[in-house]
Amino acid sequence: MVGEKPKVASRIANALGDYSTEENRGVKNYIIETDDKRIIIAPAVGHIFNLDQKGEGWDYPVFDVEWKPIFETSDSSGYVKKYYNNLRDQLEKADEYINACDFDLEGSVIGSNVIKHITGASEDRIQRMKFSTLTPEDLQNAFDDLEDFDHGMTEAGLTRHVLDYYYGVNVSRALMQAVRDNDRYKTLSTGRVQGPTLKILADREKEIMEFDPTPYWEIYLNHSEFQAQWEEDEDRIWDEETAEKIFKHVQGEEKAEVTNVKVNNYSHNPPIPFNLTGLQSEASSHHNISPKQAQSLAQELYENGLISYPRTESQKLPAKLGYKGLLKKLKNQDNYKDKAKKVLDKDEIYPRQGKKEDDAHPAIYPTGEPPGGSLSKQQRKVYDLIVKRFFAVFGDAAKRQSLTFTLDVKEHEFKAKSKITKQRNWYNLYEPYVRVEEAELPDMEEGQVLKVEDFEKEEKETQPPNRYSQSKIVNELEKRNLGTKATRAKSVDKLYNRNYIEEKPIEVTDLGLAITNTLENYCPNIVSEELTRQFEEKMQEIKEQNDTREDVLEEARDELGSILEQFKEKQKEIGGELVDTIDAERKRRRQLGPCDQCEDGTLRMIKKSGSRFVGCSEYPDCENTYPLPNNGDIKSTDEICEECNTPKIWVNRDNKKNYNMCIDPDCPTKDDW
Ligand SMILES: [Zn+2]
Ligand SMILES: [Zn+2]
Repeated sequence: MVGEKPKVASRIANALGDYSTEENRGVKNYIIETDDKRIIIAPAVGHIFNLDQKGEGWDYPVFDVEWKPIFETSDSSGYVKKYYNNLRDQLEKADEYINACDFDLEGSVIGSNVIKHITGASEDRIQRMKFSTLTPEDLQNAFDDLEDFDHGMTEAGLTRHVLDYYYGVNVSRALMQAVRDNDRYKTLSTGRVQGPTLKILADREKEIMEFDPTPYWEIYLNHSEFQAQWEEDEDRIWDEETAEKIFKHVQGEEKAEVTNVKVNNYSHNPPIPFNLTGLQSEASSHHNISPKQAQSLAQELYENGLISYPRTESQKLPAKLGYKGLLKKLKNQDNYKDKAKKVLDKDEIYPRQGKKEDDAHPAIYPTGEPPGGSLSKQQRKVYDLIVKRFFAVFGDAAKRQSLTFTLDVKEHEFKAKSKITKQRNWYNLYEPYVRVEEAELPDMEEGQVLKVEDFEKEEKETQPPNRYSQSKIVNELEKRNLGTKATRAKSVDKLYNRNYIEEKPIEVTDLGLAITNTLENYCPNIVSEELTRQFEEKMQEIKEQNDTREDVLEEARDELGSILEQFKEKQKEIGGELVDTIDAERKRRRQLGPCDQCEDGTLRMIKKSGSRFVGCSEYPDCENTYPLPNNGDIKSTDEICEECNTPKIWVNRDNKKNYNMCIDPDCPTKDDW
């Protein structure tokens, strides 16, 4: 049996009863003996194989690809080798195989690649274990109820990998060679989801750049307890003259008559269960956790058996999960006792459901297993959000009331509005994650005359459309059916790494805009949502076994082959357009701001004979210099150190940790380094 990761393999062994362990090549295997069988559970570490081109070279297009052990093609994957060797040793002893990796396309690809490539076994000798949580009960049930080999899911997963390779590798190569034809070198990339994602962001960037703000005016009436606003036909005042006229007319008036009181009682429904995108956006707005972080924190909680599988599209919690059982378990946790009890005390325990479904997993829910004291702060935050959302979906709608008063001053109307909560209901279950407007107004009756303090006139401007935050763009991708729950956050992260986007909320760099323009002009299909979505639908067809991997890939080769042929003909010209932007962007990233030792100099990052340092543009007149770290990615930021006033740079070491630091090694901020 193949588990997706060492930790998961150990949880499966724990669930299935008495086991012994055996170490082989530094990897722990779990052995369970039954009357007629000896079951070996061996771990993978995520993907053991990845796609690579057959043969050598940097030309494009490459369509001839094969699966190879990942440590043969990637330098950073050396640690996978012992797992590969161990899996080979164990699988060679077996007569039958079980893929017990996570139940989704990735898990199907990981497990079946390992089994098929190492043993050559036919599909009728491979079974699939299907579970949504790593609790002993679920795992035991899944094992008692093994399913046949998941042909559709596996084929769909394999197709996705090949498509990503076709689009990612080929078009990225085309871009890089175009630049190389102009004697520049730069890692550029695009991909099946990355391309359309960048296009959405670039379109927004252009909208913002082209936005022309229009001035408008607002007039307020101030009362000792509230503020009302001039309103007519729900439009704004667009010219100063009109504003001035109205203002002059009412100015100095001391009385306003209440002419209309509108009360509206309404319900605010409880939220729907979390899918991954829903969780990501709440984690971002309440805890400032990025979508990618939220995804990996949730994955950790799942691997600890605390929540169900997080990579789900579903917003539904089926009754077979046993709501009461889960709630009772949560009641045993001190933090959640009261909230769980509130739900359990209800006459009818039924969750509100969302629209989205997922054929593999339900929405995210807590298993009720106690987390103990082992959770990190960040894990705890995500866990708390998941548990409280689970409670909230069982709550009754909150009762709200909106109030609108119309106040007359001469012939002008001013309006004051408020919204208040009458019955909190589900709000009590989701605390402190409820964000609703609460503004109370004093009691008023029609005909009543109020004392006015004064009037105010204010000039404002229409605002450009908002920039996307990371969680908003992930949301947008889901709404447009682009990418998958597992890959959306990663695509956005890739755009940051390539310097196509920067800052939070997201700004598209000149390089990002140039790449989008180039692709739009020369291979519009690569950035079109249409094509990406079309293949997403094809993969669904493969999953349901209405289409085949071979047919879909052939279609992709046809489509892409002709696009790339056209690109190649104009390669040099395309590169020429990109090079100017790349040069300007490089220069911008090297600039660190004014020199702290001379008048006219600018500090910039310099690379000379293998080492990096900061120097002044006025050298040799100014010899100001600072050292720079010699490995890792660095780039400039807009920040200045509060202690020493030198510019801060962004440092990314080994792709793991990134941070901002100032360039002065003697700065007090580095005392404890
Ligand atoms: Zn200087
Ligand atoms: Zn400093």
